[in-house]
Amino acid sequence: MPAPKPLSVPQKALHKLGLDRDIDLALHLPLRYEDETRITRLADARDGMAVQVEGVVTHQEVGFRPRRQLLVTLDDGSDTCVLRFFNFYPSQQKAYAVGAKLRARGELQGGFMGKTMMHPTCKAATGELPSALTPVYPTVAGLPQPYLRKAVLAGLGRADVSETLAPQALASLKLVSPNMLNLHSALQVLHHPGPGAALHELEDRTHPAWQRLKAEELLAQQLSQHMARRERDAFRAPSIASSSNSSNSNRDALHTQLLAALPFELTPAQERVGQEIAADLARHVPMHRLLQGDVGSGKTVVAALAACRCIDAGWQCALMAPTEILAEQHLRKLVQWLAPLGVQVAWLTGSQKKKERTEMLAQIASGRAHLVVGTHAVIQDHVQFQKLGLAIIDEQHRFGVAQRLALRDKSGPGSQGQEPHLLMMTATPIPRTLAMSYYADLDVSTIDALPPGRSPIVTKVVSDHRRAEVIERIRAQLTQGRQVYWVCPLIEESEALDLTNATATHAELQAALADLEPPVQVGLLHSRMPPADKKTVMAQFAQGAEHTQVGHPTMGVLVSTTVIEVGVDVPNASLMVIEHAERFGLSQLHQLRGRVGRGAAASACVLLYSTGDAPRLGELARERLRAMAETQDGFEIARRDLELRGPGEFLGARQSGATLLRFADLATDTALVEWAQATAPHMLTHHPELAARHVARWLGGRTDYLKA
Ligand code: ADP
Ligand code: MG
Repeated sequence: MPAPKPLSVPQKALHKLGLDRDIDLALHLPLRYEDETRITRLADARDGMAVQVEGVVTHQEVGFRPRRQLLVTLDDGSDTCVLRFFNFYPSQQKAYAVGAKLRARGELQGGFMGKTMMHPTCKAATGELPSALTPVYPTVAGLPQPYLRKAVLAGLGRADVSETLAPQALASLKLVSPNMLNLHSALQVLHHPGPGAALHELEDRTHPAWQRLKAEELLAQQLSQHMARRERDAFRAPSIASSSNSSNSNRDALHTQLLAALPFELTPAQERVGQEIAADLARHVPMHRLLQGDVGSGKTVVAALAACRCIDAGWQCALMAPTEILAEQHLRKLVQWLAPLGVQVAWLTGSQKKKERTEMLAQIASGRAHLVVGTHAVIQDHVQFQKLGLAIIDEQHRFGVAQRLALRDKSGPGSQGQEPHLLMMTATPIPRTLAMSYYADLDVSTIDALPPGRSPIVTKVVSDHRRAEVIERIRAQLTQGRQVYWVCPLIEESEALDLTNATATHAELQAALADLEPPVQVGLLHSRMPPADKKTVMAQFAQGAEHTQVGHPTMGVLVSTTVIEVGVDVPNASLMVIEHAERFGLSQLHQLRGRVGRGAAASACVLLYSTGDAPRLGELARERLRAMAETQDGFEIARRDLELRGPGEFLGARQSGATLLRFADLATDTALVEWAQATAPHMLTHHPELAARHVARWLGGRTDYLKA
C-alpha cells in the first residue's frame, strides 16, 4: 500500500488556521478588499488616492538618487505617472520594459516632478477586469493569498449554508438589523462583493452581511454555553436546605452563629449575594456561580457563610486558593471564625510535611474534617473526600477549566454520585457584555459596594526621580504606626533580574530607614523563596499591626514582587508603592492597590514610573496610569482594561479554554449580543435540531466555548 501523501506546505497552513472543513473555509472571512474592478484615468486621479491605472511603459531607467531605484514611466493617454521601486529584481526590469502594457495599483502622489506611485502592485494588462472586489484573507506563512482565495471559494461552493435560525430568531434579528441577509447571500457578499458594494461598510464591518455573520457567531457561542448549562442540569447535587434551624434543633444554624459572632454586620450587597447562593444550594442541581466583587468587598465571609450551610447539612466543603500565602490567610481567618463553632478545618499545601499531610488526608477521607482549605494540592489524585458538597475557588481566573473540573470529580463515596456545588470568586469584575458573552453558562452574583468605613485611596503617579520624597512618605507612615507595601515588577525575561531588583530595593529601604527608633524591620518576599519562608515573612508582616501600641510595627515595610497580588489582607497597611508601575497591566495595578485602604486609616498608592532611556512613557502605559489615578471603581477599571487590551488578552489569562469571538465586537455589537442571549434558550427548547446544526457548523468539534 502506498504511504499516505504528506500534506503540502499550504495544506498544513490551512490546517493550522483551523480550515479543515468546507464550512470552515466558507466562514474564513476577508480582512479587507482590493479594488481591481476599475481603472482610473491618470488625469482624474488626485493626490493621495488609492487607484488602479493602466497604460503603456514609455521609459525605464535605474536611478541612483537618493538611492538605487527602478523608475518606470507609464502613459495612459490622459497623463503620465512614474512608478518607483526601491527593491527590484531583474525580472521586473524585463516585465516593465518600454512598450509593455501594465496595470498598476497603489497610492498616487502628485508633486512638483509630476505624478508618482511608490511600490505599486503591477501586472500585465491582459484580460478583462474582475467584476468583484478582491478579498484579502487572514493568512499565515506558507499560505499565499491566491492559493487561500481559491481554497476558500471552493469551500464556499461546497459548504452547506442552509438556514439554521428558527423563524422567531430571524424575525427578532430583523428588528435589530432591518436589512439582514440570509447566511448564503451574506457569505456571497463578503467573499466577492460586486463592484457597487459599499466598501467602507464592508471594511468597518457594519454591512448587513457582517451583521448576519456576527449574529450567527454570537448565537453559536450562546447556544454552546446554554447546552453546557443544560447538560449540567442533568446532574444531581445535594439539596442543602436553607432552613434557619440546623439538623440539631437545640442550637442555631451554623451560619446564624457565625453571623452573631462576626465583629461587623453584612452589607446589603453581601446579604443579597448570600441569599442568591443559599437559593442555589437548596436546589438539586449543581450550582455554578461566579461571585464577583472588587478587592476588599468582603467575599471571604460570604464564602464562609455558604460553607456553614453546607457543613450544617452534613457535607464537606473545600476552599482552594491559587497561592500558598492566600490559602494560609484564608485558613487563619476561617479557623478564627469557625473553630469556636466546632467546625474541624483541615489544611493541604504542596510544602506540607509528610506526617501532617497524612493526618490531614485521613481526616478528609473519613469526613472528620468539615472544611478543607488549600492550594492546588486539594485537587490532587490521592485526596479523597468522604462527601464533598461545596467547592469554593478563590481568584478563579488563576485556575484553568481543567482544575475546576477536577474539583467536581471529587465528591467522594458518601455523596452517592451527586456532584458538589461550585462557587467561584473573582476580584476582577468582568464588564457586562463580556460576562453576558463568555460567562453565559454561569450564574453571576456581584457584590457592588464596599463595607462601610473605608476611606478612599489617593493615587499619585510619580516619576522615579522623586524616589527620595516617596521614602520620606514611608517614614511618616511608619512613625504613625502604619505599614507599607513596596511592590517591584516581575521581569518576565529573567527571574534572576526580577530578584535583583527586589533585593536592591530592599537594601535601599533598609539603609534609608535604619535610623528609625525603635527600629523597623523591612521584609522581603519574592517568587523564588521557599513557601515556608514566604509564609513566615507574610505572618510577620500581618502581625505588625498588633505591635503598633508599643511603637513601630516590627515589620513595617514589605518589599515584594507580585506574589502579594491576590487577596492578601493586612488592614493596618496604608501605603502602597508600586515601582515601575508602567510595566504592570491595569487589572494587576488595581489588584495591588486593593491591598491598602482596608482599614479606617486614609490610604495612598504611589505609582512610581520610569521612562528608562525613552523620552517619555508609551501611550498605553500612560493611559493605564491615568485610569488608575482617575478611578478606584473596579468595574470602570475593567471596562477601560477591556478597551485598552481587547477581549482576547483581557480574558486570555483567565480562560485558557475559551474560544474567542472572531467577528463580533463586544464593545460595539451590544444589540446583537443581547439578541443572541435572548434567542439561545428559545431555540434550544423549541428547535433543538436547528440549534445542534448551528453549533456544529460554527464550532465543529470544538465545544470549548467555555464549558465550565
Ligand atoms: P475580598 O473580597 O477582596 O476577598 P475580604 O473578604 O478579604 O475581601 O474582606 C476584606 C476585609 O473586609 C476583611 O478584613 C473582612 O473581614 C472585612 N469585611 C468583610 N465584610 C465586612 C463588612 N460587612 N463590614 C466590615 N468589614 C468587612
Ligand atoms: Mg479575597
